[in-house]
Amino acid sequence: METRSGSNPPQTSSRLRGDDCNRDWIWERELETASAADALARAAAVWETQFSRLVERSPFYARRFREAGIGQSRVGLANIAQLPFTTKDDLKGAIDEEPPFGTNVCVPPGAIKRIYQTSGTAGAPSIIALSSADIQTWTGIGARSYYATGIHDHHSVLTSFGAGPFVAGHTHFVLTRLGVRAVPVAPGDTDRVLFSLRSGLADTFLATPSFAQYIANRLEQSEVDSRSPALVHVVTGGEPGGGIPAIRDHIQAALGATVTEVMGIGDVAPSLFGECPHQEGMHFCGTGQVWPELVDLDTREAMVIETGAVGEMVYTSLTREAMPVVRFLGGDVVRIEGTSCPCGRTSFRMRCLGRRDDMFIVRGVNVYPSAILAVVGEFRPRVTGRARVVRQGRGVSVQPPVPIEVEVPPEHPADVSLAGQLEDAIRSRLTFRSRIALIPESAFGESGYKTRLSVRRE
Ligand SMILES: [Zn+2]
Repeated sequence: METRSGSNPPQTSSRLRGDDCNRDWIWERELETASAADALARAAAVWETQFSRLVERSPFYARRFREAGIGQSRVGLANIAQLPFTTKDDLKGAIDEEPPFGTNVCVPPGAIKRIYQTSGTAGAPSIIALSSADIQTWTGIGARSYYATGIHDHHSVLTSFGAGPFVAGHTHFVLTRLGVRAVPVAPGDTDRVLFSLRSGLADTFLATPSFAQYIANRLEQSEVDSRSPALVHVVTGGEPGGGIPAIRDHIQAALGATVTEVMGIGDVAPSLFGECPHQEGMHFCGTGQVWPELVDLDTREAMVIETGAVGEMVYTSLTREAMPVVRFLGGDVVRIEGTSCPCGRTSFRMRCLGRRDDMFIVRGVNVYPSAILAVVGEFRPRVTGRARVVRQGRGVSVQPPVPIEVEVPPEHPADVSLAGQLEDAIRSRLTFRSRIALIPESAFGESGYKTRLSVRRE
């Protein structure tokens, strides 16, 4: 086992440390290693059926297509950019029009077999309805994503994603499909997580990066080396963080485990991306069920999905029955990390830079709060790793100095030089001036689930 302060060596295998099973490390090899041409052909064929279904059964999309001048003519996948984008507000509007299921429900109410709710972080809560087939589809996509992280059937998985009301609850079906041993705890239940880790109940831990960092801090603060004897793998999801080097390295060193990330979008699929043990970004795992596009942040023109491209992800459901979405603006800004991988998967890999809503502009330069976290995290252990930007008004432009709140552990309340050093580091690395406020852990707020990367105060 590594020393307490050491970090893991980079992964060079498509399996996790200690995994000597002889299962294929790709869940659906034919599909996940298909050429781009094959993936496109498969998607285009399924889209034909889906387009007809939308026109016939979704009053919401039938109207939108008509308004966009599409009429009855069929629009192939190659021309999908002719179709209008769908926003979260549009979907909410469809529900409000005819509650409780709305005008975009394409199956009879009796065929709806599961309902999740949205968190309402970008407005009032709403619902996401699934048919039996949709439940299976989500579980299948999730199985590819989690299997891609290296979780195999011999693993024992401690999961802190609640059963509901959010779509992250779907992970429970995924773990059952993968055949692992599941050890569920409620989100934020620190005592049970620490008990489970210390007693060696699990070799894998699923958590938001905020919660994983909090657990890592707790373990580092304890008097004895109380790291889990069995833990080899932490999978983070729900927010960016697991892919930010300072955060990832800290969790890896403190927990003695490899960190990989998953990501999903509530209205599309809860686990749509999974990072393999090579740790070079999350693979798209929705081939055949979801059609991804990348669009320019300003013009929303289509971009080529190629290494280095930065844009907003857009998703279209190819097979979804109950509440399909077309060209849904997911709000996630991503950087494409590659289009091939030593693991053999042919889908693109990406890192999420943050929510479009969290992005702001300082003197003409785009800034993502995740970039601030990357700088702040390097000041550990004088900081805990959490930080947030304070925004005033609705505008996207922020005048420097940018107000940033940085969480500090209880034993560093009077670290007088820290704020100035953080301001200098942000200035030199991110080229804008900031004004740092140090906030003790007890006052920063909820650590068990997601941390909002920006808050608006008047
Ligand atoms: Zn890979």
